[in-house]
Amino acid sequence: MIKGTITALFMTLIARTSYDPMITNDVTEEYDFIVVGGGASGAVVARELSDKTGMTVLLLEAGDSDWGNRLVPSPTMFDMLQESPANWNYDIAKQKYSLLEMGENAKYPGGKILGGSTSINAMDYLRGSPHDYDSWEDHGAKGWSWKYVEPFFRKNENAIDNKISEKAGREGLLNISISYQHPFSRRLVTAAKEIGIKEVDYFDEIEGISPLVCTRYKGLRQSSSDAFLRSGYKERQRSLHIVTNALVSKVHFVTDTNGKQQATWVSYMKEGKINNVKARKEIILSAGAIRTPQILMLSGIGPKNHLKEMEIEVVVDLPGVGANFQDHYGIFAYHAIDDNQFVSQSTPESIKEYIMNGTGYDSAVWGGGAVLHFKTKYFGTNVSLSTKKRPFPTIQVILTSKNASFFFKPRENYRLHTAWMVGVQHPKSKGEIRLKSANPTDQPIIDPNYLSEEDDIKMYIEGFRKLEELEMTKAMKAIGFRMITPEACNGALYINPPRPDEFYRCYAKSYGFPAAHACCTAKIGRENDEMAVVDERLKVRHVEGLRVADASVMPHVTSSNTQAPCYMIGRKASEIIKQDWNINE
Ligand SMILES: Cc1cc2nc3c(=O)[nH]c(=O)nc-3n(C[C@H](O)[C@H](O)[C@H](O)COP(=O)(O)OP(=O)(O)OC[C@H]3O[C@@H](n4cnc5c(N)ncnc54)[C@H](O)[C@@H]3O)c2cc1C
Repeated sequence: MIKGTITALFMTLIARTSYDPMITNDVTEEYDFIVVGGGASGAVVARELSDKTGMTVLLLEAGDSDWGNRLVPSPTMFDMLQESPANWNYDIAKQKYSLLEMGENAKYPGGKILGGSTSINAMDYLRGSPHDYDSWEDHGAKGWSWKYVEPFFRKNENAIDNKISEKAGREGLLNISISYQHPFSRRLVTAAKEIGIKEVDYFDEIEGISPLVCTRYKGLRQSSSDAFLRSGYKERQRSLHIVTNALVSKVHFVTDTNGKQQATWVSYMKEGKINNVKARKEIILSAGAIRTPQILMLSGIGPKNHLKEMEIEVVVDLPGVGANFQDHYGIFAYHAIDDNQFVSQSTPESIKEYIMNGTGYDSAVWGGGAVLHFKTKYFGTNVSLSTKKRPFPTIQVILTSKNASFFFKPRENYRLHTAWMVGVQHPKSKGEIRLKSANPTDQPIIDPNYLSEEDDIKMYIEGFRKLEELEMTKAMKAIGFRMITPEACNGALYINPPRPDEFYRCYAKSYGFPAAHACCTAKIGRENDEMAVVDERLKVRHVEGLRVADASVMPHVTSSNTQAPCYMIGRKASEIIKQDWNINE
């Protein structure tokens, strides 16, 4: 085992300096399928359509190869990765109700690299609640309820930890394992039980406290590129061509014999040149919830008035493109701890443990930890259009043991502290993606519109109340656990709980950040829903030969982080496409 881990580390960190044998520049004139974007969903689609199907597939990725990037494999490089060119690092439109502390410095992250955001994310693997998908079906996504999507989660997963529930898949390509569990995680479980929170296995039941499961193998990140593109790539080298640094700028349409617009060509920019390539069967957009709507709009599919304003010829007036933007707004809560055995950071010993065994603090993003989901009295009422009140959890808290950097200058010198991320899982506030210009190299405008709905703030306040309950447990008091309040928001007055609503209202507006779970900007919906962009088979409405398969198609955001649902979307999309084209393996 030790030898295996050292070999894996060596292979990954040292051997990955050479050129990437999986990438080609040898692009032919046409392919059966063209997939745009090699992230969570796109990598799965590209693999599934090219694997023993007799089809040819071209995968175009705007970012660089992940192969030579030394920051990607190691979980502790997470913070450095965010500062690197592997992150699109988008500007965010000025927010009125949120991100007040960050102001114009607030950036929206997204993976610009093969593997997409899975190559730079925090690796937490969480499927969401079964009720999320039943609610998707309520919203018009026929065939996407839990009973239909659950098999596709399982097909992707390979749970390498025996401790993970039998409900997780064990034969898929994506390795998942339980994150490093610091002694603080056990202390949290004791505290949670004191206030009536159950300890659960996330795969069996979402509500309660559970160890985090993450996309990690032998201490190294598992991205969609590792799991779905690199494994056995030689067998697919003829059927799957992967081109990196290729920014897709437009989908072109030809009017078919029935007068329908048929998506036929894709233009992409590489090394300053524009190239065109033809799809015999279909083009699949998997560029993520920010860029997929941008490509649609650049191609003439979107809200008519906005396209005219940008001087883009309208192919189809689809008002839902770029609308319905949803995300989780993360807020850090910091707590001081007096007992140093309950706070962790990278040390020479932990690094040694990581190199020898692939375990310990350095094998996890932010020291690993636990995840807590619970309902508030607003549960189930916060998804607009929902005909039924689905009982999914309202709040998620990712509980880490990390001595993280502060959003504000602490009033005292705390030697040790932890940072927890609190998020309302089904916010009412919705934003949008709009074009800045018709130039494909311009970033789109991202307006998340966080906290524009008062109910969202009320839910955050309830979330913080739960943290106060934890703060007051015997288990936490025994280790000197207490919230660190800022100078702002009259924080000096509220050192001890209960703190007034006004304090938490101010705290929430000031100290949040984008959790980067962007979704829902080309949602699935019924034919009579004018804001629906794709049908339940992911076909873009009113055109032929064009589908979307990524976070954009979600009708609403899920009760947890979004990579697992995106992997599922990729897998289910592949199955649908194979059925529609009668492709058998
Ligand atoms: C910093 C960060 C931390 C996160 N942490 C977690 C976490 O811990 N757990 C979790 O579940 N989720 C997390 N997420 C979210 C999760 O990774 C995403 O929801 C998921 O990867 C989205 O999948 P996707 O296929 O829709 O898009 P992506 O994975 O983002 O892939 C889109 C791909 O398309 C490419 N692309 C974009 N435009 C073009 C173009 N014009 N031409 C060609 N290619 C293009 C991009 O470069 C990218 O590679 C995090 C995200 C980020 C950014």
